[in-house]
Order: sequence, then structure tokens, then C-alpha cells
Amino acid sequence: MTRVYNFSAGPAALPEPVLQQAAAEMLDWQGSGMSVMEMSHRGPQFMAIMADAMARLRALLQVPADHEVLFMQGGALGENAIVPMNLLGEHRSIDFIDTGEWSRKSMQEAAKYAQVNVAASSADNGDTRIPARETWRLDPQAAYVHICSNETIGGLEYPDTPDVGTVPLVADMSSSILSQPVDVARYGLIYGGAQKNIGPAGLTIVIVRRDLLGRALPCTPTAFNYRVVADNGSMYNTPPTYAIYIAGLVFRWIEAQGGLPAMAARNAEKAALLYDALDRSALERGGLFVTKVARECRSRMNVTFHLRDDTLTAAFLAGAEARGLVQLKGHRVVGGLRASLYNAMPLAGVQALVAWMAEFEARHG
Ligand SMILES: *Cc1c(COP(=O)(O)O)cnc(C)c1O
Repeated sequence: MTRVYNFSAGPAALPEPVLQQAAAEMLDWQGSGMSVMEMSHRGPQFMAIMADAMARLRALLQVPADHEVLFMQGGALGENAIVPMNLLGEHRSIDFIDTGEWSRKSMQEAAKYAQVNVAASSADNGDTRIPARETWRLDPQAAYVHICSNETIGGLEYPDTPDVGTVPLVADMSSSILSQPVDVARYGLIYGGAQKNIGPAGLTIVIVRRDLLGRALPCTPTAFNYRVVADNGSMYNTPPTYAIYIAGLVFRWIEAQGGLPAMAARNAEKAALLYDALDRSALERGGLFVTKVARECRSRMNVTFHLRDDTLTAAFLAGAEARGLVQLKGHRVVGGLRASLYNAMPLAGVQALVAWMAEFEARHG
């Protein structure tokens, strides 16, 4: 068996020990005589798996007592509708900070339910930098301020949590959740699909401040009403049981690595290694590789770059594949290359990528 270094943006690589444990427990979970996939979600075994996963996620993120953690379905794009349905209440508008493709998807969906105010946009700078906080035109009457903490396609990431005053801050954290510690108390709501940095597709994480519950629009589907989901312990309807089980194993794995501070240190090291190679390429070796994202908002999770001569891209990707470095193609909307460096990507994978880049440059530079 050969495992590759998988740089996919999502669904993405999972820690090998997690996959091994899942394989070992596939037919018989801890003496139950069945697979987790075959269990009743209301039976004692799965109830224990669910409670354990919830508790571990809360502990990892140090979620304050006044925030609910919900396990839902529908992905981040589902939440783009579910969040406004649940949080709009008596308000009429939502403030958006537009930093790229995923922010725009969120804005388009929210516009079905509310007036969308683009308080700032990176479109003016070609999505190379997050607009400076002083330039945001926020409306104190807005239901909430929406940001995308890490733009998975463009490769822009907030260096820290922006201050938006008393209006609740809502963040799509699909591609950066659990990559470093985060001060959850500063957010009204955090959401994200699990398939980037947590587990398999199918599970959606929502962390919401309790005082924001109970204001859902009457049209909100009951299964997507945060209050209902919270009151039923995320079991109003059948939750994505197997995805929750795997997520629980990933949470344990993160704990064993030293928790989010350890993840943050590793992720910073991996990203620095790749960005240094890109910067050196630009400065010292005539610039075969280029990254256009401004230094202060470079994503640690999704490093976007391209070859100055795009006709070399196919050869670079083919050579990477031959070396077991896969899924490095950029998103179809922006093209170029993208290396996703989530928690499960080992440093050795980035070292192998940087070595291949140097070899390619020596050949073509
Ligand atoms: C992947 C991604 C999405 C889309 O998530 P789905 O789970 O496919 O709905 C939305 N936002 C961000 C930031 C993402 O990375």
C-alpha cells in the first residue's frame, strides 16, 4: 500500500492513525458486534460516541458556557441560508466583508432573505488583501457582520479576529477551524463543513451564542432551526453518525498532538516553509513561482500560487503526481496551483513539495 501526500482543499487528508482505528473498528465497534454505521443514533453506544465528540470539540476550542455546539448537515453552503433564517429576527440587513469566492457565495444566498450590505470588499485589489478594518462601513442596525475567516479558493486569511463592536460577528470557518486556538467568545456564530480540517463530508459544525437562538423566521425548516437542534442535542433528526464518529477520533488525535496550540505551531511551520520557497523563487531564482496574496493575509491553510509561465503548469502537476504529491491544481475559478496544508498534512509532505519545486526550477529556471 502506498499513501500519497494529499494537498486537496476538501474533502481532504485525514490523520493516518484515525483511518487505522476506523478500519480496525469497522466490523465490530468496541465489542458491540456492529459497525458504527449500523447503530441506532438513539442507542447507548452511539449516544456515547456523540457525547464524547461534542465534549472533546468543546474542550479543544474552549467553547464558553454561553455558546451551543451543534452538529448539523447541509455544509457551509447550506448554512449560508440557515444562518440568515435563524439570525435575522427583526433586523432587515446583514453586513458582509467580501474577501473572495466563498464570501460572495454567502452574500448571494443571504440576499434571498435580507438586504445585503457589502461593508468592504477585496474585489478592488484583485482579492490579494483583506480590506483594512478602518475602511469597513458597518451598520450598527445590521443583524450581524459576516466574514469568511479563510478564503479557501483565493488563499486569504484573517490574521486575527476583527473587532466589530456589539453587532454579532459570524464567521465561515470551514477551512481554518481547529487549525489554531480561537477566542470563541468574540463570535456570535461560527460555522463550517467538516471535510476540510475535521473529518468526512456530511457533518457541519455550528457554534452559536445562546442569546441568538429563538429568533428564526417562520419559514425556517424545523430541522435547521438552531433552537430546535440545540434543544434536541443535535438529534432532532438522524445526525450524520459515521462522520461524527470519525470527527471524534480526529478530536482525540488533535488532543494527543498537544491540542490547538501544537496544531498552530505546526501549521505555521509548514506554511512558512512553502511561502519561503515562493519568496526565494521570486527574489533569487528569477521567479518561476509567484504568489500574489499580500504577506499579512496569506492563508496558512491554502497556499495559492502559480507558475509565471502557465504553459509549465501541466508539467509541474504531472511531475508532482509522479512523486506522490497530489491534488495541487488550483480551484477552477482562479486556476494556477494550490497546496492545502490542513492539520493532517505532515511537515514531510511540504518538504517533499518544496524539493520538487526546487528541482523543477533547476530544470526550467
Ligand atoms: C469548502 C467551503 C465551503 C463550501 O462548503 P460545503 O460544505 O461544500 O457547503 C464554503 N466556505 C468555505 C470557506 C469553504 O472552504
